Amino acid sequence: MQYQNDLLQSSIPPKQKKSNYVNHLILGLVCAILATASYAFFSVKSTSSTLDEIALTIPDITTNIEQPIKLPDTNNTLLETSTTPSKASHKPSMQSLSTVWQEHKIKPGESLSAIFSKNKLSKSDLHKIVHANNIGSQFATIRAGKSLMIGLNIAGELSHLTYKKSPYEELKATRLEDGNFNVELSLKKIERRISSASVTIHSSLFVDGISAGLSNQTIMQLADIFAWDIDFALDIRENDQFFVLYESLYINDKPIGTGNILAAKFINQGHPTTAIRFKDPTGKTSYYTPKGNSMRKAFIRTPIPFARISSRFNLKRKHPVLNRIRAHKGVDYAARTGTPIKATGDGKITFRGKQRGYGNVVIIQHGQQYSTLYAHMSKFRKGQRRGSHINQGDIIGYVGQTGLASGPHLHYEFRINGKHRNPLTVSFPNSNPIQKKYKTAFLAQAKPLLNQLESLNKTQLAQKIQ
Ligand SMILES: [Zn+2]
Repeated sequence: MQYQNDLLQSSIPPKQKKSNYVNHLILGLVCAILATASYAFFSVKSTSSTLDEIALTIPDITTNIEQPIKLPDTNNTLLETSTTPSKASHKPSMQSLSTVWQEHKIKPGESLSAIFSKNKLSKSDLHKIVHANNIGSQFATIRAGKSLMIGLNIAGELSHLTYKKSPYEELKATRLEDGNFNVELSLKKIERRISSASVTIHSSLFVDGISAGLSNQTIMQLADIFAWDIDFALDIRENDQFFVLYESLYINDKPIGTGNILAAKFINQGHPTTAIRFKDPTGKTSYYTPKGNSMRKAFIRTPIPFARISSRFNLKRKHPVLNRIRAHKGVDYAARTGTPIKATGDGKITFRGKQRGYGNVVIIQHGQQYSTLYAHMSKFRKGQRRGSHINQGDIIGYVGQTGLASGPHLHYEFRINGKHRNPLTVSFPNSNPIQKKYKTAFLAQAKPLLNQLESLNKTQLAQKIQ
């Protein structure tokens, strides 16, 4: 939550709104109050459009849900379902015809066993259900706030037990004639439709994105996709625009959330960058430029997305604590204590411990030439040590003010062959482009998406001119 609040607060700093700064001063408060309100009206008509919903039904969901951020364990559950021992020989008992249902709302801390006791159900039935097959134990994952539906037969015995795990998964236990239970997990088919949005930034990526109907999840994905090209804390300007095509997930025509971004175009300070999602036949998914270059670079620009820079790389800086000239060989990011710090590139931890002045420090070596340093951490990420291999974006520790620091912040250094470089301006090596053998498939898949992005862009332009 704390992280999300930081993101929401990361709006355009006034000094960056150069062209409109004077206007804003004149219009003052009125403008500030009206801005949000009027934008909300405009956005409905001109900037946000979830219009182009092209039904894109995908028959086999096992192959299509590889990144459902809010749909955990999908692949696992699907696998488990397919291996359900079918008790075809046992038919559900006749008693199921006259089932009396009751709902039990699960309270915090309430176990299945406690629920059975409260409802005067047999503990032996509970044991049979949990051990019915490899799915039975999933009944132990019940969560407070949700409901269990309890079905009793004429004899007052438990005949059915159902639990809605998620909008698309339902666990069902059914009593069989022999007194045992069959447990199955039924899955609803998720339909993926393509939604689109066109957003002009007036306030911040988050505020304007949400006004245009995007979910937090989609906005975070967008920030991740462009993380190598755009520093969302520093580079965003008023009137920057983005166009995004993303999946909306539906069950029986009811929206249940959003899936992946399929393509997006971001126009930052007049400079457009386009990204297209591609899944190669081995199942590896990545975002590429229209020409098939990877959107990824060997390094991301900032270890804390959206954080405010409190001190830049400066070889003649007056030290705030020591109060004398001392080179500042890194960049400081002000953030609350506990904010996660991400490794900016793949590499290996070569130091993790205390350093004078720097407090708790992690140093990562990236191949032969590059290394990065992260200082003043409040604590390290559990489970990592010197020698641990780290992937780009992995959390390595948390912001603090250990060592010589006037407030909680991250001090971040970037070195090439041991020499300090400015992390904000140094040019990063590129990551691998799309493999040659997949290029034709990629270009074919990219074309309609690019066309759609372009038409969003054109519509926006036409609306501006009017
Ligand atoms: Zn510093």
